[in-house]
Amino acid sequence: MKNENLWEQIHKLKLGSKKKFEIEVPELYGIKSLTIPVLVKRGLREGPTVLITSAVHGDEINHINTCHRLYQSKNFEVKAGLLIILPVVNIYGYINKSRYFPDRRDLNRCFPGSEKGSLASQIAYLVSNTFMSKADYIIDMHTAAVGRFNTPQVRCTFENEQLKSIAPKLQVPIVLNSQNREGSLRYHAQSLNKPCLVFEAGEALRQNNYISAAGLRFLKSVLSEIGMMDKKIRKKQNSPISLQKSHWLRAQESGLLVTKYKEGKLIRKGQILAEIRNIRGDSAHKIYCQADGVILGVTVNPLIIKGDAIFHIGFIKNDDIDNFQDQSWSDEYNIE
Ligand SMILES: [Zn+2]
Repeated sequence: MKNENLWEQIHKLKLGSKKKFEIEVPELYGIKSLTIPVLVKRGLREGPTVLITSAVHGDEINHINTCHRLYQSKNFEVKAGLLIILPVVNIYGYINKSRYFPDRRDLNRCFPGSEKGSLASQIAYLVSNTFMSKADYIIDMHTAAVGRFNTPQVRCTFENEQLKSIAPKLQVPIVLNSQNREGSLRYHAQSLNKPCLVFEAGEALRQNNYISAAGLRFLKSVLSEIGMMDKKIRKKQNSPISLQKSHWLRAQESGLLVTKYKEGKLIRKGQILAEIRNIRGDSAHKIYCQADGVILGVTVNPLIIKGDAIFHIGFIKNDDIDNFQDQSWSDEYNIE
């Protein structure tokens, strides 16, 4: 389909129906007809337009499945509005099992892009111009980069009043108030004055059903909060914990990493989070927690070089510690 006709086709969709489209993207090495899928669900009545993007980093494949499941879910009927899902934005990285474009550009640093720029810039422009400009809400789905695992979490800025009011009602364990990086999809959304949530969970190049289930639950909670789907099908869960600050703990020595805590668990100042051993089994270095918090992300490769980032820690304020419950999310999320 010619891309100019896409919105014409979408608006022809009957209320309460859904359809899969394809849009053309620039060809690669002379291969013709390279497209990315566009999954559309139209509500029973008019309402907000929501854009969900996934695999902006081409190797972060876990939420492609999350998007498919949302589109296919029999428990999810769009009551109002228009849901546009781009499950594989970075088709070039997906083909190459890579985070990047073939020229090593990171699409998430290329927004808003340009029609005549690099390949990544053209795709950023396409996403921005064709979809983001027409959306009322934007949700960008990510996993950790290769070699790291992220516990399910949402990143957004509380400066946006709409997000500030939605955030406590989301079905996700952790909401991190984090600033935008220039050139990212979220940064551009902010410049368009559109509320944008980034969901982070799982690991690159992995398909984990629990992570998809966590993503699905999060997405449904957003859609119900903004009136796109019925609230009654939501399951009860505690409010997410809001974190204002996070930082990475790095290895002070090289060696074999043995972790003592799982991601998503409350950790207290002074606790030993991990030790780094030499190959004779002697402890070369212990990693201590520097403040009360929760492990947001962790390396999955135990072979450590001095300076490697080991733990991404989110700090919890004293007032929130009593309300915090360890996130046994991997047991909790059912596979649908
Ligand atoms: Zn990513």
